[in-house]
Amino acid sequence: MSQYIVGLTGGIGSGKTTIANLFAELGIELVDADIIAREVVSFGSVGLTKIEEHFGSNVLLDSGELDRSKLREKVFNNPQQRRWLNSLLHPLIRTRMLEAVESAKSTYVIMVVPLLFENGLDSLVNTTLVVDIPPNQQIARTAKRDGVSSTQVEQIITSQIERSERLQKADDIIDNTQAPIEVRKTVQLLHQKFLDKASTR
Ligand code: ADP
Repeated sequence: MSQYIVGLTGGIGSGKTTIANLFAELGIELVDADIIAREVVSFGSVGLTKIEEHFGSNVLLDSGELDRSKLREKVFNNPQQRRWLNSLLHPLIRTRMLEAVESAKSTYVIMVVPLLFENGLDSLVNTTLVVDIPPNQQIARTAKRDGVSSTQVEQIITSQIERSERLQKADDIIDNTQAPIEVRKTVQLLHQKFLDKASTR
C-alpha cells in the first residue's frame, strides 16, 4: 500500500463525521466505511446477488434494492447466518476500501471506520485517530441528531468496543467535548503531523 492511511474511529455520536469533514476541508480525501458498506450491496452488485441467492428474494424491496430491515431480521439472534453474512461482506468492503485508498490523490488518506477495532480493520491503517467524548454526551448528541431514545443509543454503545479499550488502542485522540473552534485547532496540528509522517517514511 503506497498511501499513508489514518484510521479515524470513535463511538456513535462522538463526532467522526464532523471531524472527518474538517480534514476534508484541508484537502484530505476520505474513504468512508459506511458508504462503502452500502455500495457493496447496491442494486446490481455481486454482494446483493449472493445475498439474494442465500436468503431468497424476500430480502429485496420491490425496487430490487436490499431490504435492510428484512436482512437485519434474518441475522438477528442467528449467529450462524450473521457469520455467513459477515464472511461475505467483510472481504468485499475491505477490498473496495483499499481500492478507494489507492486511487486517492491527497498526501494521506483518512479511512472513517466506526468499527475499526471491532472488525480488525486497524490492521489496514498506518495510524489510528480516536474521537472521544463521554457516554452521556454520546447519548445526548445522538438522540438529538437522530431523534432516537437514550435507550436505543445506550444499546448501540454497549455493542461497541469499550471506551477505555478504544482509547488504549489509539495512536492519537481528539477530545471532542471541546468547542468546535478548539477542535479545529487540534485537527490542524494533527494534519501537520500526518503530512510529515506521510512524506518522511
Ligand atoms: P458520528 O459520525 O461519530 O456519529 P457526528 O459527527 O455525526 O458523529 O456528531 C454527532 C453530533 O454531535 C452531530 O449532531 C454533530 O453536529 C455534533 N457535534 C460534533 N462535534 C461537536 C462538538 N465539538 N460540540 C458539539 N456538538 C458536536
